[in-house]
Amino acid sequence: MTENTVIFWFRNDLRIHDNPALNKALESGFRVIPVYVIEDIWYDALFPELGFPRAGEKRKQFLAESLADLKRNLQQKGSDLLVFKGKTSEILKKVSNATNSVKIIAQKEAAWEEIQIEKEIAQITQLELHWGSMLYQPDQVDFPTEKSPFYYTRFKNKVLAQPFSPLPSSLPSTGSFMKLGKIELNNLPRLFNLENWSITDKSIPFKGGESGGILAMKKYIEKGSADHYADTRNLFEGENFSSRLGAWLANGCLSPRTLWKQLKEKETPKNHQSIQTLLEQLIWRDNFRFLFLRYGHKFFTTSGLRKTPPDMYNDMEGFELWRKGQTGEPIIDALMHQLEATGFMSNRGRMLVSFYLSKEMKINWQWGAAWFESMLVDYDVYSNYGNWAYQSGRGTDSRVNRKFNLQIQTKKFDSKGKFIQKWK
Ligand code: FAD
Repeated sequence: MTENTVIFWFRNDLRIHDNPALNKALESGFRVIPVYVIEDIWYDALFPELGFPRAGEKRKQFLAESLADLKRNLQQKGSDLLVFKGKTSEILKKVSNATNSVKIIAQKEAAWEEIQIEKEIAQITQLELHWGSMLYQPDQVDFPTEKSPFYYTRFKNKVLAQPFSPLPSSLPSTGSFMKLGKIELNNLPRLFNLENWSITDKSIPFKGGESGGILAMKKYIEKGSADHYADTRNLFEGENFSSRLGAWLANGCLSPRTLWKQLKEKETPKNHQSIQTLLEQLIWRDNFRFLFLRYGHKFFTTSGLRKTPPDMYNDMEGFELWRKGQTGEPIIDALMHQLEATGFMSNRGRMLVSFYLSKEMKINWQWGAAWFESMLVDYDVYSNYGNWAYQSGRGTDSRVNRKFNLQIQTKKFDSKGKFIQKWK
């Protein structure tokens, strides 16, 4: 094996287009070995107190489809994707030794467990990390992440004042992918067969992978659906009421910058408000990543970002009623049934059920966030724990005691009662 080899470690960036870390790996001039590790603590473990898996079957299916698609796309470029399952740092150590790689290159992440894994790897070999999952990366803004604004509006105004760096038009041609046929597989940890996870649950409304993500984005924009986003985004369901691109964005199958660029190209005076509202949601996404960099582990505590003690309790009986949609509140129960059946819930729905668990039932919001982590096909650690903290008054909402009137909400967003009827 030649010395001039680097491992490209795919993480939440399961794509080839607009992937800054992958571009860096190819620009290095070294031969690049693409690797993905299905981390056991996320995909093979239960929440100990709660007894359900951290990743439910629907999430696993989406990941398996995304990896299969990435593998196919890399094979078309004369390369491949080596998929392993286990403890990431141990697997990467073995792969690094077996291939005599000089370093590992990957996308930088901002959440606590992800950063612990980075630290473990950095003790084993040289690890080079690059930002790539946001519209505005921390190394492109003129303020340090420790001083990132607490409130969304200030954050939005600050990042919008920054220049938006152009997207690469294609992969750099300087480097090359390693022909994986040349690797001695005997020396590597056992490869994971994606067929083991070929669950074919037809109730999932999204098919994982970069190819599907780009197609879904194009269809959504070409149909003109983004033009009515501001008017329909608060509904509980309906065709293209919101973009439904979350799962591809969360897994990095779709770059938020690519979506931003495509939306901007379609912006007209007529659809301006809808396009801006949609773009602002992508800034919310960035905002939570910056807040994770600033507050670290706090997002995984019941107190969250607040100093006052939380008025919430570990009431398992109540939690089970909420989780199974048996609270007796029609809209809450319908939403929870929808989540379990499809792995999706609208933003308005997520706001209502998280408020209800934490502020009405006064149950530990971390438990609710854990159930979402298990169920949501678009699960994203930053947007999930960040929004849960916000809705339960433990995050960045300036009105920590904000409450919703469920009757009014139902009348407004399910006026004919069709949603409740469907999911009761
Ligand atoms: P659209 O409305 O079409 O928005 C486009 C994209 O913008 C989304 O796909 C998402 O990437 C981003 N976005 C939209 N709203 C938000 C928001 N409030 N915060 C951060 N990003 C946003 N979003 C996730 O991607 N993963 C999660 O795990 C997640 N958990 C949530 C938990 C709670 C309690 C709440 C209130 C919200 C959560 N959200 C989460 C945010 C939001 O509800 C979803 O992104 C959205 O409903 C996904 O549907 P969509 O793709 O049609 O979004």
